[in-house]
Amino acid sequence: VDETYIMVKPDGVQRGLVGEIISRFEKKGFKLTALKLFQCPKELAEEHYKDLKAKPFFPGLIDYITSGPVVCMAWEGVGVVASARKLIGSTNPLNAEPGTIRGDLAVQTGRLGPSYYPDRNVVHGSDSPENGKREIGGTAYALCLV
Ligand code: ATP
Repeated sequence: VDETYIMVKPDGVQRGLVGEIISRFEKKGFKLTALKLFQCPKELAEEHYKDLKAKPFFPGLIDYITSGPVVCMAWEGVGVVASARKLIGSTNPLNAEPGTIRGDLAVQTGRLGPSYYPDRNVVHGSDSPENGKREIGGTAYALCLV
């Protein structure tokens, strides 16, 4: 069965959006199979975003994601990886369509300034089934969902 890793980022937790975000996945018919409030250590944040290491906003991204607790979740359902990405919307809150989580809830704070400011976009979703598996079951992640 398909499985994806969804994480409410520190801005989503601080702004009280956890319930709203969970609700959208529940209403879409997906099944919540694991959930944990978690303070992400720097090392795991760097592992999670290792593909972006060369970007100018990388240090800011690590500061952002470790700036407060995140809510780590595993969700199950047919086609859940791609469907969750659609529910979440585009990376940049300014481009995210109304009706998506980011389009409705994320405040643009990043790219108006120099590109070393990361987008604060309230939620993460795995971008492929392989990454879903890695993010839920990988050794580096084990501490965040068990
Ligand atoms: P996530 O992986 O968090 O679900 P995403 O898949 O939409 O987001 P990625 O390309 O994986 O986007 O980038 C990871 C995160 O890095 C983004 O969510 C955002 O916070 C930040 N980011 C990515 N590209 C930019 C950019 N050009 N300018 C500012 N921040 C960015």
